[in-house]
Amino acid sequence: MATAVVQPKPGKLFIGGQWLDAADSRTYATLNPATGEALTVVAEAAERDADAAVQAARKAFESGPWPEMSASDRGRILWRLGDLVDKHTEELATLETLDNGKPIFESRYVDMPMVAEVFRYFAGWATKIHGETVPVKGPFLHYTLREPVGVIAAIIPWNFPLLMASWKIAPALAAGNTVVLKPAPWTPLTALRFAELCQEAGVPDGVLNVVTGSTRELGRALVRHPGVDKVAFTGSTATGQEIIRESAASLKHVSLELGGKSPNIVFADADLDAAVKGATLGIFYGKGEVCAAGSRLFVEKKVKDDFLHKLVERAKKTIPGDPLDPRTRFGSLVSVEQMNKVLGYIEKGKAEGAAVVAGGGRAEFGGGKGCFVQATVFDGVRNDMTIAREEIFGPVLATIEFGDVSDAVRQANDNPYGLAAAVWTRDIARAHRVAGLLRAGTVWINTYNNYDPAAAFGGYKMSGYGRELSMHAIELYTQLKSVWVNLKD
Ligand code: NAD
Repeated sequence: MATAVVQPKPGKLFIGGQWLDAADSRTYATLNPATGEALTVVAEAAERDADAAVQAARKAFESGPWPEMSASDRGRILWRLGDLVDKHTEELATLETLDNGKPIFESRYVDMPMVAEVFRYFAGWATKIHGETVPVKGPFLHYTLREPVGVIAAIIPWNFPLLMASWKIAPALAAGNTVVLKPAPWTPLTALRFAELCQEAGVPDGVLNVVTGSTRELGRALVRHPGVDKVAFTGSTATGQEIIRESAASLKHVSLELGGKSPNIVFADADLDAAVKGATLGIFYGKGEVCAAGSRLFVEKKVKDDFLHKLVERAKKTIPGDPLDPRTRFGSLVSVEQMNKVLGYIEKGKAEGAAVVAGGGRAEFGGGKGCFVQATVFDGVRNDMTIAREEIFGPVLATIEFGDVSDAVRQANDNPYGLAAAVWTRDIARAHRVAGLLRAGTVWINTYNNYDPAAAFGGYKMSGYGRELSMHAIELYTQLKSVWVNLKD
């Protein structure tokens, strides 16, 4: 496997339009999880660096070209960013694959094209953010101004590094905010390359800053910082809870995209071949390191055995390969830690009495150096088992049978998470009824894993709050000011 990576600014932070060493000059290595080899070094930012980045973002928010720039000029910059991502897709996709272990097929044809689309979608929004005039009592003119929130700390996970960053940066910049972006420790490379593209696109200095670090302290420093107005977070539910606690002191705006344990419900009357494909995609796409992974498969009892037979056939063909090989569809998990966590859950499933019908351990591929886990399917799972309750964030499917519609809905909703769900049936009325009953932020009917910049995405229950993408994302990055004008002579 080729692992050489040319990182344009090794070991630097991007603050106020400058490439800087961390205050105490420390760096750490980022690894290729498919080989275990170091790719390059990145800066190990400390609290002082977080402070410098926030100061730069504050300055850019309060003075200089950004607050004076017209909305259409901001939109033009965002559009240019989309085009630059397209132009550099190959390079960005390669960095993402090397850092994360996902197949280049996914980085090249899914992640990067959607990053570009997200920037172009929100480019259009820049000129459509406005207030209203309101018919109030008395001789007054009342109007609202929809204004940016200020400095946004965007804290990102490692599973879709640049894509999750784009979901925050694009609407934030469209609305006139400034951003401090903190990528996840294991996957910082595309964020750093993206910072260069921002300079090329004409984003003024300080409007986007990137700080990297290997510990949780850097994120904490941003969340506590009084100069940050809003934390936009995607990551685990436990971290989201900590962010709420830590941000309470300064009452920051917070939006949270958290974990999931999404139910994928297959009724006996469904197109079962399509549902088998959908279930496979739902759990094995992105190695299962997908917040909306369909990790709980509910199958109606009378078709369960046939269905599972077909699914297992597909799972057995889902075999790992070199992530850089364009034919590979199933890559390496992101890190040794994540692989061990996933393997631990597989053992827990076995210990609690579920039956492994496909996979069930570490995959041979990679000569023992990569973080490859077999596409794993459990049968005989009960909804109260650990593998059905907790987010595994790996290629592990828990199959649970159900009797009728109400049993399916009751079990599907019986989980703390509520990010996504799917229902497979040919009965249109039932499909929509079940979609209405499921407590989830996204429901797919006879499909799985569809995303679009115009379609809102976010969680119910412990999967978070706030909606990213779509017009609703603009609400997350703006606040409303009420203005009263006395019209009396
Ligand atoms: P994580 O919560 O460990 O880390 C996410 C980010 O938060 C990282 O950048 C990390 O450095 C930072 N962080 C860690 N502790 C922090 C703290 N105390 N204060 C501030 N920042 C802190 O999550 P992860 O392991 O990187 O990502 C996997 C999780 O992300 C999964 O639970 C997954 O479901 C979730 N996820 C959700 C969505 C969604 O849209 N709902 C999308 C992708 C991933």
